[in-house]
Amino acid sequence: MWGPCTATGGCPAATITLSACFSPADAKALMGRFDLCKTYPATIQREIQREKLTECYQYDTLYEHLKKNPSGVTMALVNTQKNRERDDYSFANINLLGKCNTNCFFCLGLDLAGVIDDQNQLAIPFAEWKNFETFLKKCKDNRIRKIYITGQNTDSLMYRCLEQLIDFLHAQDFAVGLRTNGYLALARMELINRCELSAGYSIHTLSPVTNRMIMGRDDLPDWDSIIPATQRPRVSIVLNRCNKQEFFELLRYVAKFENVRYIQIRRVSTDTRNDLLMPDMVVYEEIYSQVRNIFPLKRRFATDAEVYEIYGKDVVFWRTIKTSVNSMNYFTDDTVSDMYFIVEGYLKYRTQC
Ligand code: SF4
Repeated sequence: MWGPCTATGGCPAATITLSACFSPADAKALMGRFDLCKTYPATIQREIQREKLTECYQYDTLYEHLKKNPSGVTMALVNTQKNRERDDYSFANINLLGKCNTNCFFCLGLDLAGVIDDQNQLAIPFAEWKNFETFLKKCKDNRIRKIYITGQNTDSLMYRCLEQLIDFLHAQDFAVGLRTNGYLALARMELINRCELSAGYSIHTLSPVTNRMIMGRDDLPDWDSIIPATQRPRVSIVLNRCNKQEFFELLRYVAKFENVRYIQIRRVSTDTRNDLLMPDMVVYEEIYSQVRNIFPLKRRFATDAEVYEIYGKDVVFWRTIKTSVNSMNYFTDDTVSDMYFIVEGYLKYRTQC
């Protein structure tokens, strides 16, 4: 029988078998993504070998590694229980729905595959978004001032009326920030810097080959130009099986930018694909155990987010399901959710409609 891995407490890794955590269909889908690299010409294949990326995308190898468990980190350490204790609301998200200019294999939008695929409000003026006024009123009623424009399955900078939206929210006395993959950042830098709050950039790799595996495209945003041009940049790295080899190098690269004050290391987040993404969660905990042994813990916040000082920066280890922060969420198809857990809140609202 295939099903989600239940190894969340006390289950020794040695007893876990491949079949316990992955269905053949899931494994095939995942390998389809990573097999893309096998179509590269010989020069790039050599790069893959040199960077030792093979291990990252070879599902069987990774699983053998888990079974042997040489580092002592077991799947039992990967806690998938959600923290249901929530703080007061401190921010809200506008989750745009549409098509993305990348295709990340861990995209949270894939948790809602088949549910939101037909939704696309990227060209619709926000004045026509249903329930948007209701959402803003809820924010005000809950004394939420910070609103972040992000995407559930698309990128915030792809929204056609973004400039008007930012200005409208500012006029309503909200503080506005953006979350983006950065591909359109240089073209929309004036808008990014118009925001009162930070621009959060997702930077997962510096390697085109790894980027192909993670985001489905070879080209990278020009971070050397984007970050210095941004007034309030912050960086989010999703640590996963593909970028684990370059993690510390990537961190060192990001840390060299003086204006980056906050670096967040995120564990993949999912409500419906724990089985498929378990190897990435294991990688996260492996790297985290290395960090914990090397770098000083500065503090914790939001109950369970650890802040380490690494290469002169505050680096936050963020497991979405473990933190206690709380947010209101709006989805541009008219969904208003008062739940922090994005997918769960979305589905709850839709089933109540
Ligand atoms: S950039 Fe964000 S929305 Fe786009 S595919 Fe990646 S995770 Fe999904």
